[in-house]
Amino acid sequence: MRFGTVEGRFVLVDGDRALDVATASGGEIPSDALAALAQWDAVREWAKRADWALARDVRPEELGAPVPMPRQVFAVALNYRPHAAEAGYVPPEEPLVFTKFPSCITGPVGTVALPPGHVDWEIEVVAVIGRGGYRIDRSQAWDAVAGLTVGQDLSERVYQLQGTPPQFSLAKSHPGFGPVGPVAVTPDELPDRDDLAFEATLDGEVVQHGRTSEMIFPVDDLVARLSAICPLLPGDLIFTGTPAGVGNRRTPPRFLRAGEVLVSRVEGIGELRQTFVAPTNGR
Ligand code: ZN
Repeated sequence: MRFGTVEGRFVLVDGDRALDVATASGGEIPSDALAALAQWDAVREWAKRADWALARDVRPEELGAPVPMPRQVFAVALNYRPHAAEAGYVPPEEPLVFTKFPSCITGPVGTVALPPGHVDWEIEVVAVIGRGGYRIDRSQAWDAVAGLTVGQDLSERVYQLQGTPPQFSLAKSHPGFGPVGPVAVTPDELPDRDDLAFEATLDGEVVQHGRTSEMIFPVDDLVARLSAICPLLPGDLIFTGTPAGVGNRRTPPRFLRAGEVLVSRVEGIGELRQTFVAPTNGR
């Protein structure tokens, strides 16, 4: 099953068709993504008998983030060994976790105004929490995940790295720095929930590629470790880390420029498409 939002309302998606769950269920399922994910088992049951005659065509740019305003956004740094190495770090023994503040979360297709500094790309697979929970055992962790989606952890490197120690969260939370989508896909519908191929291209050039099976801390391990400390809430997002190939570790470094188009694809899910534009006046 594939789910997302259109105009802020929770939808199921099949190909280029979207079904508004609140309308199609006669109000049985709420239209708000957080409320729908809070009764995830009921959504899944209802979906089995949903009447798709009420679906309508939807264009990719009409889809919003699968969860437009999550309450918690976890993001994991250095979760792929080659990226840890290119960044100059030893792979961590515990996940290195920061947040992307929820105001940066946007839908799958759009423009991003470049703030002053050096803006870089990081393709990531993002877990969308459904049932959630506290102190979830790793063996039960996938049951807490409603779906996986595509994300970009856009990052302004000057502010991120200027201090000692560096701070991640603010410089990764400018408006538009957390595009996600186009839909979230339930783990049972993916070719292999633990081994998905992904790649990011910049104006057609492949800049990052990898497989989620290369994570140091896989999704179920992250859910267990994060929930050991923070109760995971319906609709929370977990950005699971990026592989090698980010721009600031290239020789010479390479950053996003106005007019460039970044496309981020994950096998079995879909793609994001961000076009970068010059900073707006008055920032
Ligand atoms: Zn990242």
